[in-house]
Amino acid sequence: MKLTPRGPEVDAVVRLLEDDSYASAEALARAIIKTVADELDLRDWYALTHRWRDGTRGINWGPFASPIEALRVAEYIGAGQFGAVKLYSPGVLVANAKGRKNTAGYCRRPECGHAPFLHLMAGSGRGGCGLSSCGCPRFTK
Ligand SMILES: [Zn+2]
Ligand SMILES: [Zn+2]
Repeated sequence: MKLTPRGPEVDAVVRLLEDDSYASAEALARAIIKTVADELDLRDWYALTHRWRDGTRGINWGPFASPIEALRVAEYIGAGQFGAVKLYSPGVLVANAKGRKNTAGYCRRPECGHAPFLHLMAGSGRGGCGLSSCGCPRFTK
């Protein structure tokens, strides 16, 4: 998987590396792996689909960071027909429904964390959160 680290992903790992409360290098490594997985869960990915020459379905492979990366692998492998399909982020799917604390693009108010579109329009901006269970008065970037 070839990817370019994004700002929020780098920031999340830097926060862990600068946190000296981990008891061991192993504990820090576990936290880093979980954090990176959590961050990458917010990305869209691609799968390489495959059909054999006789039309029967092959195995779908992934994830890849881009359709170009997926199709380059297909070109290398060669046998059969390949295609690339987008896999929308499972992290965003869940975050749009449940909210996501402390994440760029979601409301930064500690009691909220919901997606912008869940906040009602107020003039040219976003006002209070539309979820009745949430008391957030105004979308905060
Ligand atoms: Zn909310
Ligand atoms: Zn909010």
